[in-house]
Amino acid sequence: MKTAKPDLHSLKPVTLPSGLSRQLTQPELDRLWPRVTQSESGCWIWTGRRFKAGYGAFDLNQKAMYAHRIMYMIFIGEIPQGAHLDHLCRVRECCNPQHLQAVTCHENIMRSPIAPAAVNADKTHCKRGHPLSGDNLEVREDGGRRCRTCAITSARQRYATATNTPLNEAPIALSSPPAPRRRRGSEVCAKGHVLDSQNTYTDPKGYKHCRACRAASQSRHEARKKAR
Ligand SMILES: [Zn+2]
Ligand SMILES: [Zn+2]
Ligand SMILES: [Zn+2]
Repeated sequence: MKTAKPDLHSLKPVTLPSGLSRQLTQPELDRLWPRVTQSESGCWIWTGRRFKAGYGAFDLNQKAMYAHRIMYMIFIGEIPQGAHLDHLCRVRECCNPQHLQAVTCHENIMRSPIAPAAVNADKTHCKRGHPLSGDNLEVREDGGRRCRTCAITSARQRYATATNTPLNEAPIALSSPPAPRRRRGSEVCAKGHVLDSQNTYTDPKGYKHCRACRAASQSRHEARKKAR
């Protein structure tokens, strides 16, 4: 037996990809509800349009969203940030909020019987929980997807290791060196050393550094070694 169409006013708000949270409108509910049929096992099978990976798709504000995530939000409530909804019934087109459980992405991958590559293709968050959408999603030419936040962090780590700079002093730029800062008079580093030609050096990647700061960081390093 199919669950009766819910009353609009009993529904909880939906958080859109933009981050905006709002109630569904009656026309949206009227569009959404007929797209679900109930199976004998209790799954709410999505009969509307689907994403390639098999999950139901439903447009809100002209943007396709996962139908099961919408159902979870309107019946259960907000999905914790960075959480993925695990289908406990293992039926991807199922939208029954009672069959969905909010888990961190890591837990979900550990539980899923699906091959890692398939999981990767429809991941909504990176392994550290950053959203794989909007400005944070980078799609490579080969179709691979990566998290921009994590890519920047690892680029900074590589940079810091290669140049023996503390991580918090590594530049944030991903590949291109930062544009030189133009100031009137003499330029100074963050610590106030004058960045003239004698006090600067350029590393193989084209980044300029303050010699005084480098000397200071090397002597800190030496001091720490001696202390051990
Ligand atoms: Zn189900
Ligand atoms: Zn990330
Ligand atoms: Zn300096």
